[in-house]
Amino acid sequence: MNLFAVPDIWEKIIYELNGSCDSLEQVLENNEVPELEEDMNFLNFVDNEIFRCNCCNWWYPISEMSEQGDWECRDCVPDDDE
Ligand SMILES: [Zn+2]
Repeated sequence: MNLFAVPDIWEKIIYELNGSCDSLEQVLENNEVPELEEDMNFLNFVDNEIFRCNCCNWWYPISEMSEQGDWECRDCVPDDDE
């Protein structure tokens, strides 16, 4: 559901975070938009797109979140053990 157009800079930040282990703060500073860290719309957008694994601290798309874990990726917490 899109209530408003997503600013390009938001997409860019998601793109840069995804697959990296940089902090959100660091990427915002690199893009000269540190104020986004206080922007609830932006933070909600991030939460819907990607997450930071509690275990390995890398960012992944939301679809890679383990169903067994709590904010952990499938590499750290496999869905099913075989
Ligand atoms: Zn992980």
